[in-house]
Amino acid sequence: MAQEHTGSCNCGAVRFRTRGTLREVIACHCSQCRKQTGLYYAATNVLDSELNLEGAENITWYRSSPQARRGFCKTCGSALFWKMDGLDYSSIMAGAFDTPTGLAFGVHIFCADKGDFYEINDDLPQFAQSNA
Ligand SMILES: [Zn+2]
Ligand SMILES: [Zn+2]
Repeated sequence: MAQEHTGSCNCGAVRFRTRGTLREVIACHCSQCRKQTGLYYAATNVLDSELNLEGAENITWYRSSPQARRGFCKTCGSALFWKMDGLDYSSIMAGAFDTPTGLAFGVHIFCADKGDFYEINDDLPQFAQSNA
């Protein structure tokens, strides 16, 4: 059965619709995600072919590394997307989805870079760097 999910930024200038299965949520505690969000990045993945964007012209793409870009709403600043060059899928912030999402956390990555003001208190796998 096809899974459909919708989501948006805080102000609604960017909306998206996904089809197909969403990956478990990865919590990325790297310094880039920490600084962009103020905490950590919690994102699922969807194939680009299963992602429909509305208001794509309202997304600002920030090249955060030589291989990847981060997309956020240029009006309200909501962090929305992380996109690795050359891959056929996009990461989408789990919190941008309308509820119920059916999503669940799966793993923590880049724990070596996490903020020093919180602990990770669940039993999920933790990786110091990437889990790839
Ligand atoms: Zn917005
Ligand atoms: Zn990160």
